[in-house]
Formats: sequence, C-alpha cells, structure tokens
Amino acid sequence: MSGNGSILESISPDTPLANLIGGEEVPSQATETVAVTNPATGATIATVPLSTPAEVDAALAAAQAAYLEWRKVPAVNRARYLFRLHRLIEENFEDLSRLCTLENGKTLEESRGEVIRTLENVEMAAGIPSLQMGDFAADIAAGFDETMIREPLGVFAQIAPFNFPSMVPWWFAPYALATGNSYVIKPSPQAPLSQMELARLVLEAGFPPGVLTILHGGTEVGEALCAHPQVQGVSFVGSTPVARSVYAAASANGKRAQCQGGAKNFLVVLPDAVMDAAVSNMMGSIFGCAGERCLAGSNIIAVGEAYEPLKERLVATTEAIALGDGLDPATGMGPVISREAQERIVGYVDGAEAEGATVIVDGRGATVEGHPDGYWVGPTLLEGVTMDMKIAREEVFGPAVNLIRMDTLYEAIAAIEASEFGNAASIYTSHGGAAREFAQRVDIGNVGVNVGVAAPMAFFPFSGRRASFFGDLHGQGGNAVQFFTDAKVVITRWPECTDGREPWD
Ligand code: NAD
Repeated sequence: MSGNGSILESISPDTPLANLIGGEEVPSQATETVAVTNPATGATIATVPLSTPAEVDAALAAAQAAYLEWRKVPAVNRARYLFRLHRLIEENFEDLSRLCTLENGKTLEESRGEVIRTLENVEMAAGIPSLQMGDFAADIAAGFDETMIREPLGVFAQIAPFNFPSMVPWWFAPYALATGNSYVIKPSPQAPLSQMELARLVLEAGFPPGVLTILHGGTEVGEALCAHPQVQGVSFVGSTPVARSVYAAASANGKRAQCQGGAKNFLVVLPDAVMDAAVSNMMGSIFGCAGERCLAGSNIIAVGEAYEPLKERLVATTEAIALGDGLDPATGMGPVISREAQERIVGYVDGAEAEGATVIVDGRGATVEGHPDGYWVGPTLLEGVTMDMKIAREEVFGPAVNLIRMDTLYEAIAAIEASEFGNAASIYTSHGGAAREFAQRVDIGNVGVNVGVAAPMAFFPFSGRRASFFGDLHGQGGNAVQFFTDAKVVITRWPECTDGREPWD
C-alpha cells in the first residue's frame, strides 16, 4: 500500500491482502480467507483475510494512539491534507476507476462516476474549518458568556458494501478525518481493492500513520467493530437485515450508529411525461451498475395511458443494451458481482413467472463471447407484475425490472408507502403540480422529479427512511460533521471590571 504505483502491481491471488495498521502493511495471521474475483471473467484477482480478534485489537489500539495526536492538529491544517489527497486522487483517477471495474464489474464510465463522487466528498470535507465551527452567545447572564465547540470523539468505523467499492466509505471517511477522528474501514470482502488504493494515497498525502486503518474481514470483524470499547461510532452501508443488526449491536454498546440498508425503488411515469427523455433517463437507474445500486429503480409504475408508449420504448431500449466486460468501452452493462448473485436474480425472475408475471425481455442465460465464466444476467423486463408478488416487494439487486400498471398517481403513492423500504422514488411528468404533490407526499428519503437516480451531492445528506435507514444523522455534508463530533459547551465568567481600576488590580 505504500510507495508509488497502483496496488494492482503488488497484489497476487496467492498472498492474502495485508491490513493497514498504524500506517504499515501488516500481513494477517488469519487462516480463513475469501477470494476476490473479477466478475467479468470469474478469475481470482486477490485474497482477503478474515482478520483475527487480536488483529482487530491491534488495529484499534493503533487508531486510538493516532487519534490522540491527530485531534491536536488545527482544522485548517487537517484541511490541507485533504487538498493533497484530492490532487492525488485526481492524478490516479484512471487507475482507481479501472480497479473499481475490475473488482466490481461495473462499466468504466460508471466507475469514473463513483470516483468523482469520492472526490466531491473530499472537497466538501476540506471546508472543515468553517463546517466544524461552533457557536457563541455573549452575556447569557450578567458577566457570563457561553461557547459551543464541536470536538472529535476518537475512533470511528465503517462497514462497507460491495456495490460502490470506491465511493461509499468516502461518504464518511473525509468527514471523520477532517473533524479530527481516526477512521477504520472494513471494506467489503467482495471488493476491497479500491479502498486499499485510496489508503495508499492517504499515506502519500502525508496523513499521520494510523489515522486511517484498513481492516479486512467479513461478518466477525464487522461484529467485533460494533462491540469494541475503542469504537465510538459505526457507519454501515449494506443490506437491510445486516443494517438492522449493526444498528442494534452498536446502539446496545453505547455507540453512535448510522446504518443505510437495502431498497426497493419506484419510478412513476404519468401519461404527460416526455416519454423518450423519461426512458433514456430511467435506463441509468434500472440497469446502471447492473441494477446493483441502492438507488436503482426496480418497480416502474405506468399510470393510466402511460403504459403502452412507455412499454414500447422500454423494450426497444432494453434490448439495445450491450452486455459485456466493463473495461470494454462498447459495454453498456457489466456483470453482477458473483455467481451467487446471478443465481439469486435469476431465481427471482423464475419465481415471478411462476406467480403469473410475463418476462418480456429475458436476460436469463445471457452469455458474453470470450467470457464464459463471467457472472452474466442480461437486462430483464417483466410485465403483469402485481404488488403482492415477491419480485415487486423484495430487493432483487440486479437487472430485473417490473413494469406495473396503475390507474392513478395516488395508487402509486400508496404502493410506494406500503413498501418496507424508503430509499428513493422518482416521478416522470410535465405537470408541476403533480410533481410537487409527489415530492411532498411520499414518505421517502431521496426523491427524483424527472431524475431516476436521486443521488444527493456531497453537500446534502444521503437520506433514506424505514428499512432503508436506521439512525438519525445521515452520511455526507453537515449531517456527517455532526455525526463525527460532539458538542461541548463552555460557560465563562470573569471578575467584572470596575471603572477607574485596572482589571488585574
Ligand atoms: P451486506 O449487508 O451483505 O454486507 C455489507 C457489509 O457488512 C460487508 O462488509 C459485510 O462483510 C458486513 N457484514 C455482514 N454481516 C455482518 C454482521 N452481522 N455484522 C457486521 N457486519 C457484517 O451488503 P452487500 O451485499 O455488500 O451490499 C449490497 C446491499 O447494500 C444492498 O442491499 C444495497 O441496497 C445496500 N446498499 C445501500 C445503500 C444505501 O445508501 N442505502 C448504498 C449502497 C448499498
């Protein structure tokens, strides 16, 4: 992780990845490992150690020691480390993007998009001297002043998912570091390489050793972070069952927790939508990143007469998507993350057919020439889906999308609110009143109006409700600064100065 050159030059499938502890690459003593595969080829590209409890202790002790010094660094200086890191991420932009595609499968264009989001959060956090400013009130009583300062708390941890290997931990990490905490990232064991590369750049930017730790592992390491007395707070992004259990464990252990879970997102199309523009926009939402994004639309609700014109365009556009290796510039959609994911997604489509749905574009059994062992599922569209079917209610997390017919906007809103999840929903319409009614009424965290991926910029919170989010303060922006700091209040009174005497007499 140190030195120049991408980590790709130093990793091999035969040697487990090292942890980054106290600024050093420390080989793990773990006996259990997990293979990282390139989803486009099925080939093993790295091996992740499932770190031991002693390694968790060592990592947290080093992070705590680093925190005690880092918190003394003035905010303006901490910001300068972020400026240097920003430059290094820009200089390594293409390497980072390729790495992300190699480990996750998404197209190079999609990887570039997520590295840009990573950069934007570094930019936002570099404003920390003003973001972390406190508050002051003079004369709260005669001779008394009161100040509120925002202080770091210690070591925070991040438990990351596979689907945005670069971006997701950086919804949190820049703010944790900028506010003077130290940060431990447990990357997804399915896609840990982008975080190792970013950690290498953090060291190159001159951040003190130990302020950023990379600790590899799976469930056990995640659970250990939620229980460890040295950890002040946990940021989790992943599936809902794990988000729920991480939130419960971290809270029961007295830690701060913000846990983003799964999703089932709706795209509602009214008859007055500009149909060509709507379909072109919703493609990125339904099939972008092979449907493996928490903001992916997967229930398309066509209201009234929107159904036929929408279906006709959707089928034509879906059939035109080129499935392939994300590194190939001609590819429109890459593979899914694993063989297990491929089987799960196909299982959902089979199940929907058995429940009475019709598969109108069928991606099951898709193949890609020259890539016989890739994890392929082609873009898939179903119709005749009703809201009681499993595929309409559960998160599929893949490129299988339901076209559902409803009579009114209110029926669509009711279906959205009956969902277990509350991550994102979008409306496509030309009617300002309908758009406003939708945006204000739906009980959803991230709402799009003629926008299929309502992904908040770094200076807004990444929202989410119901089973899509457990906690109160979200990732990104001002919410993140609050999550990683605590308010301290100082009330001050000095002896009063009296006319005619020096105050110190
Ligand atoms: P996952 O829940 O399987 O794993 C996420 C992380 O949790 C991994 O690092 C894993 O090792 C760890 N983990 C697993 N069990 C654990 C436990 N008991 N305690 C602590 N840690 C544990 O999720 P995934 O398959 O990697 O990611 C896909 C999911 O993430 C989807 O459901 C998707 O919707 C969700 N996601 C949500 C958002 C959001 O903003 N809401 C963003 C991205 C992804």
